[in-house]
Amino acid sequence: MKENRFDEEKRALRERLKSVMDQVHNQMVKSNRSIDDLRVMAVTKTIDPEIINEAIHQGIALLGENRAQELLEKYEIYDKQGVDIHFIGHLQTNKVRQIADKVCMIESVDSLKLASEIDKEMAKRDSVMEILVEVNIGGEQSKSGIAKEMTEQLLEQISSMRHLRVRGLMTIPPVCEKKEQVLRYFEDMYRLFVDIRAKNMDNIDMSYLSMGMSGDYLEAIQCGANIIRLGTALFGRRSRPVNV
Ligand SMILES: *Cc1c(COP(=O)(O)O)cnc(C)c1O
Repeated sequence: MKENRFDEEKRALRERLKSVMDQVHNQMVKSNRSIDDLRVMAVTKTIDPEIINEAIHQGIALLGENRAQELLEKYEIYDKQGVDIHFIGHLQTNKVRQIADKVCMIESVDSLKLASEIDKEMAKRDSVMEILVEVNIGGEQSKSGIAKEMTEQLLEQISSMRHLRVRGLMTIPPVCEKKEQVLRYFEDMYRLFVDIRAKNMDNIDMSYLSMGMSGDYLEAIQCGANIIRLGTALFGRRSRPVNV
């Protein structure tokens, strides 16, 4: 058979996915958790749609998109049958309309302004968008996400929006040299998640805690993450840089 230019990449993907899933299984067992309690997301940025489709054929059922423009370019090509797409990047309010019918969840809601815009757009469509609130758990100036201390207030404001359904929290912790440091951020996040869940706020459901990327997904699982978002660990190093 003729070698396709993607064959090598597809083989590499298969091996990486197997290795990741072995480690994920081990960590779930170690953490006394059922494997059904975890969703593994493939983060698609910069990756060719043909490779994304291969990941889907190999069992990935959740895609994460960072940029509205890239999503629009690739959307039609994806084999979307049985696959959920979440938006995970910084979202400008003027892009909400473009992605509203293409994703089933927006994980990166971090302001009242963005929440209102999504609510307004979904109202027009007589529909509801599931969202996660993104928390800036490290309190970094440069990062998106709402401050930990402001999270509950934002949730209270969102709770009255009829066309949004909060499903949980998301975070991107600071880059950490040591595993103990990242564990501390993930533990902080889990505590926030559990505290908010215990408050049983109206219209606020705390089902998902989305944290953990290629460098720290095992620590995230250990700390209770139930969505992990993997790019590099599945697809290898990205050839072109991206603005997150
Ligand atoms: C790029 C990205 C990821 C995946 O990053 P890797 O380190 O390549 O796994 C996860 N979450 C978000 C929000 C991202 O932008």
